[in-house]
Amino acid sequence: MKQYTLFIALIFMVLISFSCKKETSNEVKNKPYAIVLHGGAGYITPRVFPEEKKKQYELMLQKALEKGCSILENGGNSVDAVQQTISILENSPLFNAGKGSVFDNQGKNKMDASIMDGNTLNTGAVAGVSNIKNPIFLARMVMDSTKHVLLSGKGAEIFAEQHKIEFENDTYFYTKRQHDYLLKVQENERKIALKTSTKKFKKYGTVGAVALDKQGNIAAGTSTGGLTNKKFGRIGDSPIIGAGTYANNKTCGVSCTGTGEFFIRTLAAHEVSSLMQYTNATVKEAAQKVIHENIASLKGKGGLIVLDKKGNIAWNFNTKGMFRAYKKSSGEQKIAFFELEVEK
Ligand code: ASP
Repeated sequence: MKQYTLFIALIFMVLISFSCKKETSNEVKNKPYAIVLHGGAGYITPRVFPEEKKKQYELMLQKALEKGCSILENGGNSVDAVQQTISILENSPLFNAGKGSVFDNQGKNKMDASIMDGNTLNTGAVAGVSNIKNPIFLARMVMDSTKHVLLSGKGAEIFAEQHKIEFENDTYFYTKRQHDYLLKVQENERKIALKTSTKKFKKYGTVGAVALDKQGNIAAGTSTGGLTNKKFGRIGDSPIIGAGTYANNKTCGVSCTGTGEFFIRTLAAHEVSSLMQYTNATVKEAAQKVIHENIASLKGKGGLIVLDKKGNIAWNFNTKGMFRAYKKSSGEQKIAFFELEVEK
């Protein structure tokens, strides 16, 4: 009899735990998710981007957004969503990352990328790497397969070879647009030296993404070719955790774009998170303050995207425009290019 009662009790326990599990997985299934991305900030105006050209960018941003959303919708994690979304933009010649990377002073493409998991605060980054098809994959590999945070140059490339990361030859990374731009910047530099020009070219195109998955985990990532005509192994903010990229489940995820030096000096991405953590600022308030006070007070230019643990999204920039887009599980979505007033 005793055994029989025990058996019944066991059955009950199994049934209860099964129904709880079912509830939890249903709860997770219906949890909100969101993704926000950028394709760089800079001189992005309706004159430079007429309808036809704008359409091309729009399609690519939409494609990246859909990729990230499909991963999140199917219960995938935010790190995968960020990585895959960024890789779509890296594979496009339209942005200054991966295939469309700018040329440095030696006519080479040297790329930087980083990714951060806001749940564990694990992170990986690479700086000054050449011929890597998707630097964001390499950054992820650093995060998952080493105890380090940042690998650079030749060493990072050897690590990539050992981990079967895809390489491409120089011709893959050649885009006439970026090469012409290098020649233009170099010509201008000669003129500045001769004091026959005071022009400053500012053109960006770095890519980044921040995602919140159904488990409530945030991730952020950034990938770039850096600045055209950069010299002496210059590295910007994109692979510097806390400067160009940051994610923390307690607060938010952030990806920045612009003249990296200013974002390093202000630790811009981490500053957004700190403002939220210690002053209860909203995503909107924190983004506004970092761009229009911290960055602007140093005369820096650029923008950032931010997404918090509740799925609130904000973006801000002090350039003419920023390629940007977001989509939420509710279906709400937006793709935008220009200054907010121009957009209306
Ligand atoms: N932040 C990048 C860098 O300074 C450039 C960019 O965002 O376009 O390398």
